[in-house]
Amino acid sequence: MLRSAAERAVHFLNDDGAVNATVDAETLRNRFYVTLPAQGRQPEDVVDHLCSAAEGGLLRSNGGRFFAWVIGGTLPSALAADWLTAAWDQNAALYACSPAAAIVEEAAGAWLKELLALPQHATFAFVTGCQMAHVTCLAAARHALLAKHGWDVERNGLFGAPRVRVISSDRRHASIDRALRMLGFGSESLVLLEPDVDETLEPGAVEEALAFEPQTPKIVLLQAGDINTGAFDRFDRVIPIAKRYGAWVHVDGAFGLWAAASERYAHLTRGVDGADSWATDGHKWLNVPFDSGYAFVADAESHRAAMSIRAPYITAHAQARDQIDWNPEWSRRARGFATYAALLELGRDGVAATIDGSCAQVAGLVEQLERLPNVEVLWRPLLNQGLVRFLDPRPNASDGDHDNRTEDVIARVVDSGEGFFGATTWRGKRAMRISNVSAQTTDGDVRRVVEAFRAALTACELAPA
Ligand SMILES: *Cc1c(COP(=O)(O)O)cnc(C)c1O
Repeated sequence: MLRSAAERAVHFLNDDGAVNATVDAETLRNRFYVTLPAQGRQPEDVVDHLCSAAEGGLLRSNGGRFFAWVIGGTLPSALAADWLTAAWDQNAALYACSPAAAIVEEAAGAWLKELLALPQHATFAFVTGCQMAHVTCLAAARHALLAKHGWDVERNGLFGAPRVRVISSDRRHASIDRALRMLGFGSESLVLLEPDVDETLEPGAVEEALAFEPQTPKIVLLQAGDINTGAFDRFDRVIPIAKRYGAWVHVDGAFGLWAAASERYAHLTRGVDGADSWATDGHKWLNVPFDSGYAFVADAESHRAAMSIRAPYITAHAQARDQIDWNPEWSRRARGFATYAALLELGRDGVAATIDGSCAQVAGLVEQLERLPNVEVLWRPLLNQGLVRFLDPRPNASDGDHDNRTEDVIARVVDSGEGFFGATTWRGKRAMRISNVSAQTTDGDVRRVVEAFRAALTACELAPA
């Protein structure tokens, strides 16, 4: 039964069909909402049912023609390791629960710090994604900043604590807001700055925000890879300023921190190692299956104080790393295996080639789209993110018409099943985001996608206005 499930999985991976979902919610409900049986079914029947019910409701987001959001594919060894992780079914809470799961995280954590050029003394946690990496890192920040004000937040909570201000770009990823909400800072703690024309925070503006109410503890949130443009804050200029004011610097590097692993793009991350904490993902550019994010914290004491838990039945290990001291979860998946496998399969050069490859595919796609009629490039990729807009060619077309044309072209391409893209609003205009973090995308995929746009543009012209 497991072998046949594996065969079905391989079949899915090899099928180069439509990227989009081809059935609607109603159809999926009709298939999945069977009466909960009083007596269970055979495992074979269950797997059969699952596969046929999901048919057409899955995106081929792990294939080569997916450019929406920031969603990676899977490397063969990482997928295999993830299957084994499920089969081994280890509880990676403590060394005592699974020595191999604990040690593989130690090893992979050290490799990640090396690749991402982070301080070797930084502590880390393998979490579900960048969202929980933010929570983990900002919990450490909360500990450190309030301890400096004589406040023990783990003991007293936030009632009556000094207010903490969080300085950030108004372009930040919304996972930051949710992390702040979960940690009790509240969205009112955010001080939002508008970025420069290059989409990065202006060091002078950050300094001004830091100088306001100098006694108030502050966190500065910087971006390694803006979600729309891939822009990087100027770490080498902003971090020293933040340090002078005693602020904690956290970096959202969900995909962009990986630029550090490429000789070609490492300059974008210059100075990032001076921050206090970093959040990134394995399930994006490392092409590990989902459920893989990483939190890194420079100050071990703050990280441990925020996360560590002790109970009489827990056996702390003296010689090994107990994950529960650094992670927000208790029982947890042994996430280290898939990351370890991906890093070993790629090696340093393979990671760099993955980064450079995605960037080259995005640059190529943007260039080829620009040669089609009525395509405006709003943002040329610095890394792996570009923005284009489709213009309504009528002489008096308004911004609203261009917005509609952009949505229309995207919808046609998505419906064709040839490529998958999403829209965003950037500087007040609707735009199509082009993102790639997949190790699967080939030149042939890009050509196929460009043809789909050519067809969609022609169809728009023929459609009645
Ligand atoms: C994807 C992303 C996040 C959220 O990460 P998850 O892994 O989805 O939790 C945060 N910030 C940026 C810039 C991202 O691209």
